[in-house]
Amino acid sequence: MEKIAVIGAGTMGNGIAHVFIQKGFKVNLIDTQAAALEKAISTIEKNMDRQISKGVITNEEKLAALSNLSTYTSIETGVPAADLVIEAATENSTIKESIFTQIDQCAKPTAIIASNTSSISIAQLAAATQRPEKVIGMHFMNPVPVMKLVEIINCNATDPEVTEAIVALTKKINKVPCVVKDFPGFIANRILMPMINEAIIAYSEGVSDVETIDQIMKLGMAHPMGPLQLADYIGLDVCKSILDIMYKGFGNTKYSPCPLLVSMVEEGKLGVKTGAGFYKY
Ligand code: NAD
Repeated sequence: MEKIAVIGAGTMGNGIAHVFIQKGFKVNLIDTQAAALEKAISTIEKNMDRQISKGVITNEEKLAALSNLSTYTSIETGVPAADLVIEAATENSTIKESIFTQIDQCAKPTAIIASNTSSISIAQLAAATQRPEKVIGMHFMNPVPVMKLVEIINCNATDPEVTEAIVALTKKINKVPCVVKDFPGFIANRILMPMINEAIIAYSEGVSDVETIDQIMKLGMAHPMGPLQLADYIGLDVCKSILDIMYKGFGNTKYSPCPLLVSMVEEGKLGVKTGAGFYKY
């Protein structure tokens, strides 16, 4: 696998592109918004400058990595050369299904199609293609250049050889692959989101204030960030939509997003990205 296409140049897409170009892979970064592509390039450059200042890479390595990156505004032009396509577009199943159908129509027959979705069923995305055996989940963590984990999600149709190839590739980019089955929330969010939801419930019941709840989880559980601050960084809308998918998928009220989370999303208090959530930014 030499050529990778990454669909979506937002928070995750630019991080995924960063990691692959730094390891010598040719990356075609694709976004329908030209402004998102420009922002992605400047973010990658800024993050590489930080790596230079920390002595992790040299300026020559930065320039070599950037020379591996090309940008495109359409799937039809950016995907055909790729051996692997990683979809990291907006978390919306209608948008993703349509992207998977488009990728399938113009990718090489041998190409693997992966999704970075946080919660949408991989089987559902595989069903939007004529090559379900070549579809897999590749769930990177934010910020991608820093976080070691890649949760790899097999659906029933995924060919074991595809899983093997993606596990090997993940190791090649210095990340740790953890293979799981295609269940709502996979593993990372199935465990993380109920914790965040419970912290919000405890806060809304007045058990303690925001800072104290976060402090307890930081000092007591050695978490680098408390659950309420983490929710602000993930985005409260994202937390709600993952909980909604798990609630629907399992039919169990323990995953139902708590009323305070729902009302904060309705009020547009989404966390860091809107300047206010449980904290002000
Ligand atoms: P984002 O909103 O920052 O970026 C999404 C990008 O997709 C946007 O630039 C948008 O223009 C582009 N896009 C939308 N439709 C497109 C199309 N048809 N073709 C090409 N590009 C298109 O989102 P994000 O936070 O980077 O999340 C992307 C994916 O990664 C989602 O599935 C999300 O669940 C998942 N994820 C996010 C995080 C996180 O912490 N943000 C962590 C893990 C996984």
